[in-house]
Formats: sequence, C-alpha cells, structure tokens
Amino acid sequence: MLIVANWKAYVEELAKARKLLTTSKRVASATRIRVVLAPSAPLLGALALRNRSVIAFAAQDISATTGGALTGEATAQTYAAAGATYAIVGHSERRALGDTDAIVAVKLSHALTHGLTPILCVGETERDGEGRYLAIVREQLTAALEPLSPRERANVIIAYEPLWAIGKAAEHSIGPNDLTEMVLYIRKVLAELLPGKSSHGSLVLYGGAVERTNVRDLAASSGVDGFLVGHASVDPRDFALLVRQLR
Ligand code: PEP
Repeated sequence: MLIVANWKAYVEELAKARKLLTTSKRVASATRIRVVLAPSAPLLGALALRNRSVIAFAAQDISATTGGALTGEATAQTYAAAGATYAIVGHSERRALGDTDAIVAVKLSHALTHGLTPILCVGETERDGEGRYLAIVREQLTAALEPLSPRERANVIIAYEPLWAIGKAAEHSIGPNDLTEMVLYIRKVLAELLPGKSSHGSLVLYGGAVERTNVRDLAASSGVDGFLVGHASVDPRDFALLVRQLR
C-alpha cells in the first residue's frame, strides 16, 4: 500500500510539519506501508533533503516551464534538487486554477525528465446516471498519457479523485463497490494505453474523503493500491491511526 499525504496549504508551520514527519516515520516503520508526504514547497525544502530514509516527498504541483525568467515558478528540477521523488500533477485544485489537459501532459513530461514519479489525478465533477463519469476519466487519462512514450506511461501513478468527494467527511466518500468499478475501469484504459502487459505494474490510488473510519473498507476488495489523503493527513494522531488501519 502507498499512502500519499497531501498537506495542501493546511500545514503552515515548521514545528507542525516536523511533528507530522516524526509521526509518519514512526508509523511507516511500524507498518511497512510506504508513506509519501506532500508539503508546500518551502516546507518540502526544509524537510526533504535530510529525511528520505523511510519517508519520500512529493511536490503538490510543478511548473509547466523549465525555468528561466519566471518569478514564482518552482520547476520539476528544483523539486528534485530539494529532495522530492514524486510530483502530484493535475490535482483538481490546480485544474480549477487553469491547468488544462495539455498543461497536465507537459507537467508529466517535466516530472519524468527530472526523475520525479508523477501522481496523475483524474476524476469527474459529479456522478451521472449514464456513465458519463467513465468517459471523463478515460478522456483525462488519454489526454495526459498519450503524449508520453510507452515507457514513460508505465511510470505514472494514477490517483482517481472524484471532485464530489474531495474535502468531505468519510460518509460522503465513494462506496467500495463504486471504487471497485472505477479501479477496474482505469486498469482497462491503462491496458489500452500501455504496451503489452506493462500496465500490470501501474499503481492506482484513490483520494477523496478518506479518513480512518472508511479507509479499511475502501481498501478491502477494491483492488486499489493506496490512497491520496488530504484533510485526514494533517493531524498527526489521526493520520497515524489511518495508516495503521491498512497494515
Ligand atoms: C485531495 O484533495 O487530494 C484529497 C484527497 O482531499 P481530502 O482527503 O481532503 O478529500
């Protein structure tokens, strides 16, 4: 299991970031679950270089550029230099600020060029009765992955994150059966986009209202490889309890 803790802009103090890191190290060692922390850029810079033993670090987003006279941009290369080994790309909160499918594809390519494993977020805004949500996920996957080489495609982690669940309490999360359907569907689309059997190794995560009360049920038989956790990852005690549910 892989757990990615997306701290978003919830964690703003170094002391709190350090406490979360200490707790994460402890729980990752005790459970042998892979934990990846995604702090804001300055906090990632403060934590990542000296702390990459059990815990890995992810950028929450990367620039669509490769650097230069671009005030305020943080490129994939910068994140790699700061100690990140993963990058979240195409999160709905970045898509809402203007990241199109084309921009997402460029960011994936920059991440891969600089040795960051991309975590590509896809997901529909709402569930409809006609299965349109499946077509939306297929379109997002295709637009993001098609511009990459077959080998690069195999290195992308997919995070299914339906917008209607993000930021909500556990009772508003996806149900295990719907998650099973979507994981199967994403694997089917990946099998079409990746050559031979190379999609068999692709990781599919789920994110959206995952808390310690529902994570075990969601993991049980859905076939998911892990979770992207937002609000429930920023309280040290809650986060440790959530991870322990999965051992
Ligand atoms: C997210 O936005 O990536 C996320 C998973 O959020 P939350 O867990 O708060 O729903």
